[in-house]
Parts: sequence; C-alpha cells; structure tokens
Amino acid sequence: LAPSDCRTVKTTCPYCGVGCGILARRNEEGTVTISGDPTHPANFGRLCSKGVALGETLDLEGRLLTPEVNGASATWDEALSLVAERFSAAVAEHGPESVAFYVSGQLLTEDYYVANKLMKGFIGSANIDTNSRLCMASSVAGHRRAFGSDTVPGCYEDLELADLIVLVGSNLAWCHPVLYQRIVAAKAARPEMKIVVVDPRRTVTADTADLHLAIDPDGDVALFCGLLSHLKNAGVLDEAYIANHTEGLDAALAAADIGPEQVASQTGLTLDEIERFYSLFAATEKTVTLYSQGVNQSVCGTDKVNAIINCHLATGRIGRPGMGPFSITGQPNAMGGREAGGLANMLACHMDLERDDHRSLVRDFWQSPVIADRAGLKAVELFQAVADGRIKALWIMATNPVDSLPDADGVQAAIASCPFVVVSDLLAETDTARHAHVKLPSTGWGEKDGTVTNSERRISRQRAFLPAPGEAKPDWWQMGQVAQLMGHHEAFDYPDPASIFREVAALSAQDNAGARDFDIGDCADMTLHDYERLEPFQWPRPKDTAPGDARFFAKGGFFTANRKARFVPVAPAGREISEASPQFRLNSGRVRDHWHTMTRTGKSARLSAHTAEPFAEIHPDDASRLGITEASIVEVISGDHKARLRALITRRQKAGRLFVPMHWNGLFASAARINALIPPVMDPHSGQPALKSGRVAIRPF
Ligand code: SF4
Repeated sequence: LAPSDCRTVKTTCPYCGVGCGILARRNEEGTVTISGDPTHPANFGRLCSKGVALGETLDLEGRLLTPEVNGASATWDEALSLVAERFSAAVAEHGPESVAFYVSGQLLTEDYYVANKLMKGFIGSANIDTNSRLCMASSVAGHRRAFGSDTVPGCYEDLELADLIVLVGSNLAWCHPVLYQRIVAAKAARPEMKIVVVDPRRTVTADTADLHLAIDPDGDVALFCGLLSHLKNAGVLDEAYIANHTEGLDAALAAADIGPEQVASQTGLTLDEIERFYSLFAATEKTVTLYSQGVNQSVCGTDKVNAIINCHLATGRIGRPGMGPFSITGQPNAMGGREAGGLANMLACHMDLERDDHRSLVRDFWQSPVIADRAGLKAVELFQAVADGRIKALWIMATNPVDSLPDADGVQAAIASCPFVVVSDLLAETDTARHAHVKLPSTGWGEKDGTVTNSERRISRQRAFLPAPGEAKPDWWQMGQVAQLMGHHEAFDYPDPASIFREVAALSAQDNAGARDFDIGDCADMTLHDYERLEPFQWPRPKDTAPGDARFFAKGGFFTANRKARFVPVAPAGREISEASPQFRLNSGRVRDHWHTMTRTGKSARLSAHTAEPFAEIHPDDASRLGITEASIVEVISGDHKARLRALITRRQKAGRLFVPMHWNGLFASAARINALIPPVMDPHSGQPALKSGRVAIRPF
C-alpha cells in the first residue's frame, strides 16, 4: 500500500453487544493492526480476545465475490432482476404474506431500516424477523409490558457505580468480556462491591462472585418473586416511587406470594443461599441486575424479565446512578435492529405495528402504498411457514439459520424445500447458503459504512477501511435496488448510508414530543461530513436539545398512556423436570473465543486454540454411572438427532445437566450441530426460542 493509504480508522467491533470502539490501521504490507479506541465510552481502549484477533479474520478465503444464480456466476443486473421478479410474482399470485425476510443483528441500522421499509411499507407484510429474536426478544417484550416501550433504562457506568451487581443467566466474562473487565476493575478499586451470579453452571464469571447461586434451570421467576415478597416484608419498598410512578403492585405481590421454602424447592437453592441473596439485595440501594440469554432464551423468558423489573420498580432502583435492571444484548446491532423495526411485531423507530396512529404516521412518512397491519411471523414460526409451503420466496441476510435456530435440521429441510431462496452473505459456502437459488455477495466488517447501537443505547459508526472485494455490495444497496426494480423508485433511491440514517432520524422525531423513547431528531439534517465524523452518542438526542440524562425513569416518565410503569404479575411455573428424570437438561452457550456459528472466528488459529473442538460438560457422578471417561467421545441424543462431542468431566454443573457450546457448524464439525437437538419451543410472549431447554440422553460412543 502507499503510505497515504495507511491511515487509522475509528470503527466498532462487529461481535457482541458491548459495542467496543476499535482503531483499525492498514499497514503497508497489507495487514491490518487492531487496537482498542481509548476515546470510545464503551471500552476506553480495552478489547477482548475476539476483538484483538479481528485482523486475522479479514482474508478473502471462502468469500463470495460475485452474484450467483443456481450455482453459476451472474451479473448484478441478472441476479437482482430475478429476485425482484420472483418476489413480485409471489406477492401477485399468493399475496404479501407469501414472502419473508430473515435478517440479522450483524446488519447495520441502515441495512435493517431499508429491509423493514421494503417489507412492511411496500410489500405490505410484516414477515421480517431477525436472529435477534434468538437474542433479546424476551427483554423487548418485558420492557414493553413494564415501561410501555423497549427502553434500556441505564448505562454501562452504572456497573462501576453499583454496590451490588446481580448477574442473572450471564457468563459475562466470556460473552461480554469488556464489560466484565470494567466490573472487575471497579471491584478491585472498591472491594466492598458485591457480585452475585445466578447461573445453573459455575462459569468463569461465577468464579469471581461473592455468591454463586447454582439455580435450577428456569427457577429465576421463583427466585425474583420470592425476592419481591421479601422486599415487602423487610419494609424496603419505595412507597413514594410506587405511588407516583407505577401501578399494579398489589397484583404483582399477590402473584409473587411465595416464601423461602417454596423458593428453595423451585430453585434447588438452600435456604441459606436464598437468605444471603435476599438480605444483600434488600440492604443495597445501588443495585444493578444485569441479565442475558439465561433469562431470555426460555419458555418463561419474558416473565423472568418482568420478575426482575418488578423488584427494581418496587424499590425505586431504576434510572439512578448505579441502579437498574439491565438487559445485555448478544448481537452487535440487536439494539439498532429494534430501533429500525427489524422485529416482526414492531414498526420503525419503536412505533407499534398494532397502533393505528403509528401505522398512519409511518405510512405517511414513507408515502408507501400499503402498510402491514398485523404482526408477521417470528423466527421459529417463519421457518415453520417455510416448511409447510406458505412462504414462496425467502431472503436471508447475514445469518446462518441452518445452524443457529432450534430444530436446525427441520430448518435446513424447510429452506431446501422453499421454491425461491436468496442469501446475502460474505461467504460462498455456509450451511444456509448452499440451499440458495440466488447468492448475493455482501460487504463485511471493515468494508462497509453505517451505524450500530450497543446495549447502553450508544450509536457508533462502523467505518470502511478496506476496499469492497470483488463485486460485493452493501446489504442496503441490494435491497434498495430490488425495491426499485419492484417499482418503488423514489422511496429507495439512497445514494449512501448517510441518507438512510438521516431518514431514520427524521422519522424518529415525527410527532414525538417525548411520547416515545427513541428520538434522534438532532441527526435528521446531518451532512455527509457530519456523518463521517459522527462520534458515539447515546439516544435520545432530540432536535436542538443538549444531550440529556444518560438514564431513563428516575422520575417516572414511562411510555405508557398514563406515564406510569406497570408491575406485571408473574408467578413461578413450578418444576418442570425432576432430578430423577432419565433425561439430561441440555444448556448451550458461548465459549470465550468463538462467535456464533464461527464463520468469522473460525478463520483465526489463535482463537480456535483456546477451545479447539466441541465438547459436552458432564458431572463426574453421571460420567461414572454411564461409563464415560475424560476426553472420550460421547453421543448426545434427542429423538433421531445425535451430536458427537468430547466429554469434559467437571463439577461446574450439577448432576443431570449437560453444557454444550453452540458454535460448531456443518463446515467445522457437522456431527456437533447442537441446535439440531433443541426443539422449536418458544416463550409465548416474545417468540424467543428456549435454546437452553433441550432434553437429551448421553452415552459413550
Ligand atoms: Fe468486541 Fe464484545 Fe470483545 Fe468488545 S467485548 S471487543 S464488542 S467481542
């Protein structure tokens, strides 16, 4: 490279929802040096192992570099014309509900927005859902039930200001490492800070906790219902906050009326453990309860979220420094997707698909011919509709559902049977892409421009520092072209991502006046120059207003009709499986150095060295009973589905439970696709799959 091309670019990590700022520098020999951005408020220069190794994942091996139609190279004109023709034909013949998009938390907000606009406002269906459904849909549903909006009340700084951090269903040390580093640093500075980890498994995160509660799977609702009762009995409810800013406490207390003995029987915890946790929570005003997939990926995920929020509302510990319930997202842009309306049950800019006034507002703003008027198919339902033939044309972007969804083999069969499948991706071969009729080469991290929003509502730029390889194009451009070929020229004539971002900002400010949480109207007139230099900022950022408080709800102001928060009555469902069951409860999750289905992290030998192969963690008593020896190969079985894995004998979890990582896909270890063993069971409120709820047998292989 010429020295003038060797500049340093500020961008954002493409992996987890922490959203770390990165400095990427191209070197003269063509390599890329990655370091943490010391000015970014999410990480202040820190990076985890995955972020540090990003430069090792940027080669072009395996990349899809030209469009393909039925396995043969095609021009963009040929491929996009075919996509537009087949989607238009399906809509004309079978109606708008016969087509679907399945998108991704890896998309940038600008991509998400265009996909959502095309499907909901111009095709007229809400059949667009996202792999973020697998990540945080239960938190969205819980937020909306309690706050009337999908609002994360706090910010990362609260994790450093808290005197008690309760981590529920979160292996933060591996899944959101930089946030974990911030907490560890805060605890080192203030050793009196307490950490409680609620997790069936003794994770690395639990190793540093003052108290680890090895709760039975899905015992969280009982634990937090019991806590609400305890807080009432201990006389620590914030009566003024409750009276002024909430409604429904009595019903919530009635539903949560269980004593410590019942909590013990429903959680598998001892009375002493429960008492220690409840006393600590009652006595500590500055408490943050941070939760992740152990809460969300459950048949009762939304109830878990509301059981946690109820405790914070009842004590008024919300929206003040060092206090609040805090959902941490898995995907880098799950939050941006929520803002752009990437979920099948929401409109853009946090507007409600089922509200007439919101639909009219969005339709007028878009000047669209139609607007979807009912929720579309959520991820699991969407692929069930593909399987039974209701979906005639399907476009999958930046995700690999054949490996990541539950009933993964069923999803594979469904996609293989779909009359027309388009896949936009970086890679030529993934377990999903191999079933595509049309493959569209997308630009990836380092090659594309746009914005992402992290778990604390902070919008940051992803910036290109590499040329687009081959004929790869951004996802927003692909969808814009197809929309124009379908006859919607003006509405999709975007010259660049900045023009899309300005439109998102303008829509967010429409008729708002503080009535919705997401308002970035101040960015609506942003020039290209401003967009290029956009510094990370937290929303809301209304027009002509100085940056507001980084937190919501300290003084109420919820987004319900009467501006009061709602206590949601939730009750524990009781034990679903006895410890005497011959089946094992299968828990799945991330390992430290891999990301999702490994299509990027699998390229780095350094990352793969940390955990070289898929494994099944099993308790020594179970291993001994079944004749399983350390490092032998075992077969994990669910019905006709089997996975072969290396046995890892450990006391990190109780007998009767297994843990298996979720990453290995058909390209790396086809016998280890663990989601093939998980049934397509969902939370009834959020539609989020219960990915940690498998029931399996295990035997030596
Ligand atoms: Fe990237 Fe998350 Fe690691 Fe930060 S913590 S470097 S966002 S993977």
